[in-house]
Amino acid sequence: MPLKTLLPRSLAALLAVLAAAFSLACTRAQSERPANELGRIPILMYHSVGGEAEFAGGPLFDIHGLNIAPATLRRQLQGMYDAGWYPVNMRDLLSPRFFVPKGKTPVVLTFDDARPSQYRTLPGGKIDPNCAVGILEAFHRTHPDWPRRATFYVLPESSYNGVPFDQDGQETSKLRFLARSGYELANHTTSHRSLADLPPRTLRWEMAYSTRYFRRQVPGLVMQTMALPYGIAPRDPAHWHDLLRGMQGGTRYRHRCILLASGGPAFAPADSRFDLSRIPRIVSAPGEIEHWFTVPASLYVSDGSPNTITVPRSLAGQVDRRHLDGAKFVVY
Ligand SMILES: [Zn+2]
Repeated sequence: MPLKTLLPRSLAALLAVLAAAFSLACTRAQSERPANELGRIPILMYHSVGGEAEFAGGPLFDIHGLNIAPATLRRQLQGMYDAGWYPVNMRDLLSPRFFVPKGKTPVVLTFDDARPSQYRTLPGGKIDPNCAVGILEAFHRTHPDWPRRATFYVLPESSYNGVPFDQDGQETSKLRFLARSGYELANHTTSHRSLADLPPRTLRWEMAYSTRYFRRQVPGLVMQTMALPYGIAPRDPAHWHDLLRGMQGGTRYRHRCILLASGGPAFAPADSRFDLSRIPRIVSAPGEIEHWFTVPASLYVSDGSPNTITVPRSLAGQVDRRHLDGAKFVVY
């Protein structure tokens, strides 16, 4: 029997008022958090959600963060929301002038490999409510101030991936839905092999084939960011520029940053330690993300304006003034 029917009506009403007051107090507390636009930014790395039996012996939920149970993702989203986090896409962080409401902490949710459990439709065409996109869409519906943002590091058709998200014939409509709904599609190479020792011309093919494939699927698409398979970069740093920009088979590509597969929260874009060629991520194993709910003082807190970069005096020396992108620097 629902709790509500067990309570006298006046008590239920009182509880509702208290809950509303608590929620308002939380919102107020967040908007009163002092701005710190040099705090760290969590970039979360997801793979499967309620995954396919991709491990021998069946799915292993929540062990290493490679296959998160749907309930875990829902709980993590609610935890982020309650902690005052606010989703942005990876491409938004290429400049310090991105928008996040006052008092909020930006978070990037990334999903690698275009795995089946990230975006599955049911017979009849509805999005499976237990796949990652279904969970993100439902969370946005019940929390309209949580926008539809997440970055999908996708793979084209390959030996590793039949088609992106693995439902043959549906890949085009899925990719277009993601792009027009506000999500980011970004490069995760073509074949998902280790990039450690590939010659430059193969690195360029890895980047350009994928770019060509996704541009065909989503006309006008520009993939601005890339994530390393397994987090492994070319051993020779001189080859990193082949991941960022180049031309192959008549296709030109330009990625403005490279994401790793571990390393904790990222530096803010205005921080002199922010390095576009090595942006760390946080694995989504339970506890790894939740830890950052408990240390809010270390995280980025927005001043609400993309035109000013506001930092406490103690951190002012850490700002890279060359990368303010025209924003005004404010110290308090
Ligand atoms: Zn991957």
